Order: sequence, then C-alpha cells, then structure tokens
Amino acid sequence: MEIQLELEELDCTRESGGQPYIIAGPCSAESEEQVMETATQLKEMGITVYRAGVWKPRTRPGSFEGMGSKALPWLRKVKKELGMKIAIEVAQPSHVFEALKYDIDIFWIGARTTVNPFFIQDLADALKGLENPIFVKNPVNPDLGLWMGAIERLNRAGVKKLAAIHRGFSYFGPSRYRNVPQWEIPIDLHRYIPELPIFNDPSHISGRRDLLQEVMQEAMDLNFSGLFIESHINPDVALSDKNQQVTPAGLKKLLDSLVIRDAEVQDDRTMRELKRMRKHIDMIDDELMNVLEKRMRVVKEIGNHKKANNITIFQDVRWNEIVGKRLTEAREKELSEEFVDKVFRAIHTESIKKQNRIMNEKK
Ligand code: PEP
Ligand code: MN
Repeated sequence: MEIQLELEELDCTRESGGQPYIIAGPCSAESEEQVMETATQLKEMGITVYRAGVWKPRTRPGSFEGMGSKALPWLRKVKKELGMKIAIEVAQPSHVFEALKYDIDIFWIGARTTVNPFFIQDLADALKGLENPIFVKNPVNPDLGLWMGAIERLNRAGVKKLAAIHRGFSYFGPSRYRNVPQWEIPIDLHRYIPELPIFNDPSHISGRRDLLQEVMQEAMDLNFSGLFIESHINPDVALSDKNQQVTPAGLKKLLDSLVIRDAEVQDDRTMRELKRMRKHIDMIDDELMNVLEKRMRVVKEIGNHKKANNITIFQDVRWNEIVGKRLTEAREKELSEEFVDKVFRAIHTESIKKQNRIMNEKK
C-alpha cells in the first residue's frame, strides 16, 4: 500500500524524548464567554493551538448541531487577543469558504467525512491553493485504505501541510471505549507514510474522563506526534461530548502525569542489551515461521485426503475442538484468550483457503 506524498514539514512533530504537541479546546464553541474563557486558561498553560467545533456532525437529528458561522468571530477574537492558532472542523466546501473569511488557521476533517471519497474530493477542490494545514481524522470504520486515500486525495490537490488524527473506530458490541483504538492501524499508517505527523485524540477514543490518562500514555509510548484533546471550562454543562471533556486545570494534571520516554536509545549499554533481546526475538520468529510452514504442509496433505474421499473442508466439531483446547491452554500459559483466539482463527482461515484451493483445482 506504499504511496508517495509531497509533504511540507509542520511545526508539530515531537522530538525524541520531547513533549507532545498539544491542540486543545472545547468539543463545540457554545458562546463567546465559553470560547474566550477556555482559551484564556489553555493559553496560560502554554497551549498555542485551539480547537473548537463550529458545525457539529451529530449522530441523531435534534441534538445540538453547533453554533455555525456565528461562532467564527469568537474564534477570530481568540486568535487576535491571545495569539493562538485556531483549528475547526470542515465537512463541506461552504465551511472552508466561511472559515477563511475569519482567518481560521487549521482545518480538520472529521471521521464521518473521511469515509466518503466524494466529500473528500469536494473538500480537496475547495482547499486547492491554500497554505492552511489540514488534519485528517481516521474514518469511523477501521479501514486504513480509506484513511490513506483521503490523505492522498488532498495531497494530489496540492495540500502539502498534512497530519493525521487517530480518534478510534466504531465497534458494534460491548467495549470500554467509545471508539476502539485499534492501535495497529495508526502504526501501519506510520509505516506507510513515516513523514506524516500523527496525533492521538484520546477524547473521542475514551468517551469518558477516567480513561483519558491511559489512552494518552499509550499514545506517548507509541511515539505519536501530539495530542488533540477536548477541554471545556465547565464540562458538566457542555452542549456536546460532556462526559469526555476536562477543564483546562484537569488537562494540565493529565499532561503533567504523562511519562515521556525516549524514542531513541541514548547510551551504548542499553543499546547492546536491546540488540541482544531483539536477536532472541528474531530467532523465535524464525522458529514460528518454520512451524507455520510445517503446519501448512500437513494442511495440504489433509486437503488431498479430503478430496480423495469426498469429505467437506469445514467440520465444526473439529474447529470447536481446536479452539476450545487452545483457550484452556492460553489460560494456563498466561496468554490472553483474545490473542490466542485471534491467532488460531487466522491460521484456520488460511488453512481452509488452502484446502479450498486443493479441492477445486482443475487437473
Ligand atoms: C470532534 O472532534 O469534536 C469530532 C466531531 O470528532 P470525530 O469526527 O472524531 O467524531
Ligand atoms: Mn467532540
């Protein structure tokens, strides 16, 4: 999925061992007082980029849908009086044109917009020729292709100052998160486009204040460039996302509690130790590969046997036996059941695929 982008550097990348770049502000701009007071307190903490939603994409009609253009002069006031940069969400070209009248600095594209290539193309056309940095949130569904596609589409339109925001993914079923993080997806994004800064949005992942700390720390340990986080002077009466917003003082406490670790190893002894342990891991991975190869050879034998004797590939008694046994073993070996289940499902799916090919091979 390699893609080539033409990017210009943003001043928001984190140096090894450095502090994360912070963008903070309320979910929604609600009133001039709320906007100014929140910004004043954040500015005092040293935060220089202020986020606020003006047009809010809400799941159900009838909820608060943002103050719209009326809020733009309040944000311009923050910029003028406090010298902060302003970031807002844009979902359609008219939002971009309105925002430009009020000197908005940064635009972010929301999760519900990134899913749709038509919307992204319309926005890309509207943003053509502008210098404003654009932050692209991940789509609501866990689809790295859509996320990269949106970034690529904007870049092809000439947007060179780009960053991504990881805000988690919708999940149908019980979950402790509002949007499950699936950290492997932003990690893959970083692998494909290493020069693209990636922010973490712990607010929309957590959905509640008491999870923020854990998510922020994980983002720091995974070396994200910065945090994109919601803060409101009085979260309990916020008109949107009140459970996940923290006061500026609360945010300060959270930021102060973060442990910032080095991304690069500084001294020789630590490096040598790390190298030794990595060598060990590589050897174990060699073994894993050999075992997988061996297993697939037996799968092939079974496939041929089933074909010769006209037996179906999938027998659910056998599948239940395989998984059941390994889950019991997982508990004994202190491996997570979820992990073992995933690994065996992946191996089994591949085995079925292989046998299917054997069964349906034309001579
Ligand atoms: C937001 O940042 O307030 C927002 C609406 O985010 P998302 O698009 O991630 O849901
Ligand atoms: Mn929000």
